[in-house]
Amino acid sequence: MGESVKKPLEYYRNNLDSTMTLLETMEEFDCKKFIFSSSATVYGPSNPHPYKEDMPAIQSSSPYGWSKVMIERILTDYVTAHPDFCAILLRYFNPIGAHESGLLGDDPNGIPNNLMPYICRVAAGQLEKLTIFGGDYPTPDGTCQRDYLHVADLAVGHLKALEYAENHNGVEAINLGTGNGISVLELVTAFERANNIKLPYVIGPRRDGDLPAFWADAEKAKKILGWEASHSVRDMCRSAWLFAKGSTPESSFS
Ligand code: UDP
Repeated sequence: MGESVKKPLEYYRNNLDSTMTLLETMEEFDCKKFIFSSSATVYGPSNPHPYKEDMPAIQSSSPYGWSKVMIERILTDYVTAHPDFCAILLRYFNPIGAHESGLLGDDPNGIPNNLMPYICRVAAGQLEKLTIFGGDYPTPDGTCQRDYLHVADLAVGHLKALEYAENHNGVEAINLGTGNGISVLELVTAFERANNIKLPYVIGPRRDGDLPAFWADAEKAKKILGWEASHSVRDMCRSAWLFAKGSTPESSFS
């Protein structure tokens, strides 16, 4: 998100071009099912939470988010022109965690921007401490609240969307979230408990563009896909650390 503010053209070129190329190629091969990785960022700053799919999802705070808004528009227009096509717009909330084997996970290059990879680097001793962006938000503990969901649940959501698309046409936006808001401090504490590790942190200034709190209304996914998140915050913290430990050089541990 933050990176896209600095590199808007790269984001628009990559996300929009690839979508249109993919649609053209799908047309060539008569492929009519499209599962799109959209994002909760399309709800923008004005909608109240929990976010529901029928709220206007036409704004964002970053070029990354705008590219998601635009692709949702492109797919919607494409479906209007091709009524036998099915596009499912999966609006991800905050996926974290890793495969339970500890072998598959998220290991970003450089200093991570996202919370969980950053926490893992601190836990591994590769970064000194976590800076929590803002402690004065209008939330119960002053830190931002997000709807964190396990990547394994997210993966199952895609399979369910594909099953649904097999028998339906048209465009359908669906939230993939747990329906619960968790604060940054709650996630830090859950990580410490789940993995028996102390995480040094400081409360720093707010990060530009962060919204105080949002989470999903997860009812539509339940109703039309028969999907709901089944992993706990503890599962997310344990699997994230299992993967991070495995991809950390021994020399980093103190
Ligand atoms: N966050 C934080 N410190 C960090 C990274 C993130 O306090 O080093 C907070 C951020 O302010 C937000 C939450 O963690 O409230 C989730 O941020 P992330 O970048 O993972 O996802 P986003 O919700 O921005 O897509």
